[in-house]
Amino acid sequence: MKYCRLLINNEPQFALVETEGSTGRELITRVFKSAPAARIPDEDAVSKRIDPIPLEGASLLTPVLPSKIVCVGRNYRAHAEELGNEVPTEPLVFYKPPSSLNDPGARIRLPRLSQNVHYEGELAVVIGKTCYHVREGEDVRDYILGYTILNDVTARDLQKKENQWARAKGFDTFTPVGPVVVDGLDPWAGVEVETRINREVRQHGTTADFIFPLDVIIRHITAAMTLVPGDVIATGTPEGVGPLHAGDVVEISIQGVGTLRNPVVDE
Ligand code: ZN
Repeated sequence: MKYCRLLINNEPQFALVETEGSTGRELITRVFKSAPAARIPDEDAVSKRIDPIPLEGASLLTPVLPSKIVCVGRNYRAHAEELGNEVPTEPLVFYKPPSSLNDPGARIRLPRLSQNVHYEGELAVVIGKTCYHVREGEDVRDYILGYTILNDVTARDLQKKENQWARAKGFDTFTPVGPVVVDGLDPWAGVEVETRINREVRQHGTTADFIFPLDVIIRHITAAMTLVPGDVIATGTPEGVGPLHAGDVVEISIQGVGTLRNPVVDE
């Protein structure tokens, strides 16, 4: 399944994306009848057919409404080393606030408080089923609704200066997510993550290089807290992080998901 979220008749709605057989074009074809406060689409609810809208060029909203965004730091060896950090012996976890969420295509604002804002292209997991204390040997795929793309925008200077990363990672617009959520990826086997700035490739990694695979990450997080449907886990960024400047366009592409594109402006 592939779905997105967008305004239809001024109402934010979850909508199904299907590939048109004859042309291969991706079309938004149905809206899910979800409760207004729903954080993910209810796949069992009746969906209503709409006049198809081409996905390319559609004005999309974040496809998720997480209660929390849990991030894993330094999950690729080469990235830990490029910032001069030790390779961790267990997952390093931090939060981004839901107030930092940003829609596909929307502007990332560079705050005046930072002189060094970086992009971080990441694969993100969307939780589909409540989970707590996931046990060794349990199949974590049962709790995963699907996957999307997340840009873990970071004020690197504040991150270095402050022990807690709440501000460095938490400015408004610092968490673009989307454009769609898909199932059927296999991050254990390896999914390619590529970040381009103004079309120039800056990051190219594969989730096969994760230090901690997703099952370890989900067990580690749920040893402490309950994950609920719609929660997002950002899985870390490959090497090649670097600064953003006003006028840049950041694109993160993930095999099977698509491209998350956001322009950058000064605050
Ligand atoms: Zn990150």
